[in-house]
Amino acid sequence: MVNIRNLTDLEQQIKEDFTHLNIPKKSWMIPRNHLENEKNHIDVAIIGAGMSGLALSLALYTEGINAIVFDQCKEGEEGPWKNTARMETLRSPKQAIGPALSFPSLTFQAWFKAQFGQEHWELLDKIPRLQWHDYLQWFKKVTQPYILYEHNLIDLNVGEKGSTLYFKNLANGEIQTYMSSHTILAMGIDSFSSPNIPTFMNNVSNHRWEHAYHRSNYHKFKNLDIGVIGYSAGAMDSSATALECGAKSVEILCRCKDFPRVNRGKVAFNSGYLNSYPYWSDQQKWDFNYYLKQERTPAPHGSTLRVSHHKNAYFNFDEHVVSVKEYQNKIHIQTKKHHFIFDYLILATGFSLNWSKYSWLSYIRDHTKQWKDQYISNELPDNSLSQAPYLTTNFEFIAKSKQLDSDFSRLYCFNYSASLSQGPLVGMISGVEHGAPHLAKAISHKIYLDSFDQYINKVKHSEDFELEGNEWEVTLPYVTRQS
Ligand SMILES: Cc1cc2nc3c(=O)[nH]c(=O)nc-3n(C[C@H](O)[C@H](O)[C@H](O)COP(=O)(O)OP(=O)(O)OC[C@H]3O[C@@H](n4cnc5c(N)ncnc54)[C@H](O)[C@@H]3O)c2cc1C
Repeated sequence: MVNIRNLTDLEQQIKEDFTHLNIPKKSWMIPRNHLENEKNHIDVAIIGAGMSGLALSLALYTEGINAIVFDQCKEGEEGPWKNTARMETLRSPKQAIGPALSFPSLTFQAWFKAQFGQEHWELLDKIPRLQWHDYLQWFKKVTQPYILYEHNLIDLNVGEKGSTLYFKNLANGEIQTYMSSHTILAMGIDSFSSPNIPTFMNNVSNHRWEHAYHRSNYHKFKNLDIGVIGYSAGAMDSSATALECGAKSVEILCRCKDFPRVNRGKVAFNSGYLNSYPYWSDQQKWDFNYYLKQERTPAPHGSTLRVSHHKNAYFNFDEHVVSVKEYQNKIHIQTKKHHFIFDYLILATGFSLNWSKYSWLSYIRDHTKQWKDQYISNELPDNSLSQAPYLTTNFEFIAKSKQLDSDFSRLYCFNYSASLSQGPLVGMISGVEHGAPHLAKAISHKIYLDSFDQYINKVKHSEDFELEGNEWEVTLPYVTRQS
């Protein structure tokens, strides 16, 4: 065991841990380009180098599978942490394991203690957002996934042997094509979703409003009266940031009569829930997710206090927006009860599934099952749940027609839109340490079965001799030796 006094020691410990676990595993795969005789043929492509992509890449690596990860952003810009996220700290507990999977030395906790010591760890309440980003950057350095940055997936065609992936290389503008046997869509919370813009915004030009997820510099709100619609964590983060940037006032307009108080999703979290969820019946999944939606998730305690300690922050409940109009350089909001006037409006109204977001996604929508194709709840109808992808327990899409079955069985949905099918195994930090190994094992299993004959032939023709033939001599016949 290394005595860990700094990150260099921790990195040495990680090397030892990998050695003790025989990682990297013996290479076992027959490279696809040998089988298919094709250039640019890769076994496993992960789209997205955020936390989920990194965790999956590590989980595959521990199975002896080297994936290629693609991300549209520049190195160091992955995920929401440095751009659209505005919270001071993560909601998750500081002990969250996430992409570290089952490697103690790869955890945030180990990384933090190696640099700042046990005493500071005890004093730490929640993980600061930017520190989580720094941790993920370090995580990449020590786990060394193969990442191609500035590769924006612009098209995807599924076929019997895998997917053809088209990327725009954002560094040089070239279009690059890869043929991938297994493709994982790990593009984050908005992979298949777009900001939800309520219909009351339909005729309002976008000069004086934006969605909370919009990349924007809140210093522009200095001395302005700001309205924020929503009650979520995002609403609190936007409100607090606007106030800290000098907004004159922030009025938060909530449709609900009160904030939700209990985070039911968090309460549900335990090993039994994580291990069993993919195997729940359709009705169990639907009913529970319907319940979670009705209960709603409260904004974190700290995020709410971050707003409420400002004297110019106002919480308005039971405010149902009737109309929004822009005139005389102001936004006028009429609710059922009041008339509000703002300089600028922020919509913290979440995301909704948008299958038309990309043309390749529309193709997936048209040819694979959604929940409405498989399970309909007449008692608890919900349009957004019914549009969610209906996946196998291994995150695979399921073709609507038998002919396309094998095409889609190598395309995996490893992002938040898989939540109804896969529950806590996707999208959140504390689920990814279960989801990534689960998916990695499923892919390993499929790679082997896909080329079963070749793998068995390799065994039959192996020249990995245990015995050379010179370890013994054939003895004289037993009878001869008795005389
Ligand atoms: C504001 C915010 C706060 C959150 N706080 C918490 C929290 O406290 N606790 C918790 O458990 N979870 C939290 N989450 C949820 C979740 O942990 C994060 O969304 C996390 O970033 C998910 O990781 P990911 O890898 O799935 O997605 P991301 O980190 O978003 O990574 C996806 C990557 O895909 C890339 N990409 C997207 N489209 C393409 C494309 N077409 N081509 C190539 N690359 C592409 C993106 O550039 C990005 O780097 C939060 C989410 C948000 C948005």
